[in-house]
Amino acid sequence: MNILFFGPNGSGKGTQGAIVKEKFNIPHIETGVIFRDNISRGTELGKKAKGYIDRGELVPDDITIPMILDRLKENDCRDGWLLDGFPRNLTQAEELDKALDKEGIPLHIVIEIILDRQIAKNRIMGRRLCVNDNNHPNNIFIDAIKPNGDKCRVCGGDLKTRSDDQDEKAIDKRHNIYYDTETGTMAAINYYKNLSNKNGGEPKLIELDGRPGVKEVSTDLIAKLG
Ligand code: AMP
Repeated sequence: MNILFFGPNGSGKGTQGAIVKEKFNIPHIETGVIFRDNISRGTELGKKAKGYIDRGELVPDDITIPMILDRLKENDCRDGWLLDGFPRNLTQAEELDKALDKEGIPLHIVIEIILDRQIAKNRIMGRRLCVNDNNHPNNIFIDAIKPNGDKCRVCGGDLKTRSDDQDEKAIDKRHNIYYDTETGTMAAINYYKNLSNKNGGEPKLIELDGRPGVKEVSTDLIAKLG
């Protein structure tokens, strides 16, 4: 199963993505995680990406697009993949589509979590990352996933914040990109909506209301995945 997952920063996309990964037993490929991993390992890619990420800007397409297309060629992607954080603009959507077409790889499902910009912003600022596992959700502003004191609610591990999560200007910039219907992420989503309409419902579109709690959104997601 080949799946794209959209949602503004702060919509719980990472958390819900983990459910999709489990259900289909496919790798959960998160562009932001790949970049942050490269930054912490001090790789060339990480050095190139860091400034953009800290400012809340997109890493340029000539770095990001080949990185993801190469990742999809790896062995663990043979039986499917879940892409999260890519495509983030119209160009990336078009390039991904071209690459998939060329290889004869279908896109099966496009999931979108719909969430108001202000709610998403508050959630980002409360987000805490578990040092042991990126799929352990913790947020000081969401009761259902509040950390245990200053430790991870799942495994008790240490928690850290992302530097770009505490910077309001950077958050606003990221959201400007997401909610941009001309060339940004919403433009990419609309690209897939048009594609689906043209192709008789392929890829299948799944829309989720991101306002309720994590559990409610998960229930909705599982029901719609069928
Ligand atoms: P995320 O973890 O998805 O919030 O991504 C963190 C940061 O990584 C973003 O603010 C961008 O700077 C960068 N990034 C993630 N995905 C992409 C992408 N598809 N294209 C360009 N930059 C990206």
